[in-house]
Amino acid sequence: MPKVTHDKGECIGCGSCTLYAEHYFEIDKEDDAKAHLIRSTQKGNMEILDIEDFEMEVNIDAARGCPMSCIKVLGDDGRILGE
Ligand code: SF4
Repeated sequence: MPKVTHDKGECIGCGSCTLYAEHYFEIDKEDDAKAHLIRSTQKGNMEILDIEDFEMEVNIDAARGCPMSCIKVLGDDGRILGE
């Protein structure tokens, strides 16, 4: 299954991802003012979300628009499709 990953450790909270993929990213204003990958599971600094193929496009746009390259979209085979 394709995945989106977000490295919170690298995020600067610029908010670009929330414009590209508003249903997937939000800025966590209550906590660290960094992006949060909605519905994800967290492992250390990394947030991980399984997605369907039809969800890939907006997340690839978000990944490409991230100035810190801390969002990645991975295909079924683990190949990076967007960062
Ligand atoms: S675009 Fe990147 S650096 Fe900016 S808030 Fe989103 S994940 Fe963080």
